[in-house]
Amino acid sequence: MNKHTILCMFSGGIDSSGVLHSLVTDPAFRDRELIVHHIILQNRENRAKAEMDSVTAIIKHYQEQHPERPFTYTQSVFNTMGFAPLQANRFPFDMDVCAFTAANIAVARKDVRQIAMGRTKTDVDSGGQNFQKRMERAQNVFRAVYSLETETVPDYIFPVINMTKQAIWEMLPEPVQNASWYCRQPQYSEDGLAHPCKQCITCKEVQEFIEHA
Ligand SMILES: [Zn+2]
Repeated sequence: MNKHTILCMFSGGIDSSGVLHSLVTDPAFRDRELIVHHIILQNRENRAKAEMDSVTAIIKHYQEQHPERPFTYTQSVFNTMGFAPLQANRFPFDMDVCAFTAANIAVARKDVRQIAMGRTKTDVDSGGQNFQKRMERAQNVFRAVYSLETETVPDYIFPVINMTKQAIWEMLPEPVQNASWYCRQPQYSEDGLAHPCKQCITCKEVQEFIEHA
């Protein structure tokens, strides 16, 4: 296999929607095949359904609006709901699960030579040392999967690294804006619909620029 494929890890959030948007619309990526993967993270934060609804709508949007740029969509499930009897506060970090899954997909598909992640200027500017350390650990998880492989480790790419969350938001088409999910603690109404909590860090951050838009 000589083809060169990019694997886009997609959560349905604003940052990874920005990445998907760039990969689909930017001619610079047109010569590479694209796999888009969503991990259904079932944990005590209870975001899985809200994220899945976003992912479904956004994937549909790009498939319908950009038939010139087809991609393969895949998903997997990572479920730690069974940790409940431990009554512990800790469960695996999304970033680590994402790195582990991405590496295993790339090992299985040798043509995957780049992993696209939704890191932004906002993360880098405001994340501080804590964020750097978590990124480093995730990259270590990624490389660890490759310790038994002979080929070189694929590169991480960050197509929206120079953009703030707000700039990404403004770049996204309206249907994608409306479908994207950002809240860390969704509140579900009785009809099963997810609503942003309006209290968490990302809710507050996003409200700032949605109100001013
Ligand atoms: Zn929230």
